[in-house]
Amino acid sequence: MKVTVLEKTEDTLKLRVEDVRPGLMNALRRVIIAETPSMAIEEVVILENQSPLFDEIIAHRLGLVPLKTNYETYVLPSECTCEGAGCHLCQAGFTMEVEAPEDGYLATTADLKPQDPDIVPVSDKIPIAKMARGQRIVVEAYARLGIGQDHAKWQPVSTMAYKMIPSVKVNAKKCDGCKECVEACFRQVFKMQDDKAIVVDELNCTMCNLCVETCDVKAITVTYDENSFIVTIESTGANSPEEIVEKGLDVFRKKYENLIELLPGRALTPRPKPAAKKAAAPKPITTKKKTTPKKTTKKTIPKKTAAKSKSTTAKAKSSTKAKTTKSK
Ligand code: SF4
Ligand code: SF4
Ligand SMILES: [Zn+2]
Repeated sequence: MKVTVLEKTEDTLKLRVEDVRPGLMNALRRVIIAETPSMAIEEVVILENQSPLFDEIIAHRLGLVPLKTNYETYVLPSECTCEGAGCHLCQAGFTMEVEAPEDGYLATTADLKPQDPDIVPVSDKIPIAKMARGQRIVVEAYARLGIGQDHAKWQPVSTMAYKMIPSVKVNAKKCDGCKECVEACFRQVFKMQDDKAIVVDELNCTMCNLCVETCDVKAITVTYDENSFIVTIESTGANSPEEIVEKGLDVFRKKYENLIELLPGRALTPRPKPAAKKAAAPKPITTKKKTTPKKTTKKTIPKKTAAKSKSTTAKAKSSTKAKTTKSK
């Protein structure tokens, strides 16, 4: 396999990948979209909500906020020593306490205060709620690693796509210089030179065949190499595209090893696991006490452990004082 970097920005990577079977390329695409973890808010405790939005809408919006992800510090809850109960190795907390100073105030991710400075929204301009003067929102939120096949909010990429590498040829002997292919091609693959059409940007071709149909003298051929691809990886901002590909390959390798181990007599020697970097235990979240209650009389922050059980969640949902809402 040969890999060439065609373009690279902070959030996007465009690669030329040659000598690889389409099945393998597609498997990597699917693993990166659906099984490569990233951080997203999974639990929201609504302590106060005087905004026009339902608690569930606020929880849903918070859940969809892309968060910076640190693969070194956090592990999937299913792989954590706490067995998914929630601890500083598998969970990062946020608080948000905002009171609109004027009508039309827009609460954004800038109002979401992280417990861990490494796990922050990728932008502080993502809207959460538009509020009238004096309205308040007070919430606690907990983010965890997850995978895209459980919920799209955990996808680390907005795009992971590929296309086979096109090959566009013009037979100069047949070309009569009518320019119709130049006008027909919306990807600016051709230009005219010395009264003949020439190919100037082959990789931009989408293989739509419009030029082939347009050329009356059949001077154009469009083909592709089915074992070579242009791959575009666009991160949500959670990680760099390189880190996402590396993590995706790691997940892919583990799946391959699991498969091999299931074959009789083909067990692999287990690979040593890299030592997980332990994060410092975070400070507990403290939310300021409400000073100007309007709708409610008593504000109690539910205990985190209690908030995680399904029965407590259902009970909390029926209460108007404090609500625990799944962000899905
Ligand atoms: S449409 Fe065909 S004949 Fe006309 S310029 Fe293009 S290649 Fe040449
Ligand atoms: S196949 Fe479509 S995109 Fe490609 S060169 Fe022809 S018109 Fe342009
Ligand atoms: Zn844990």
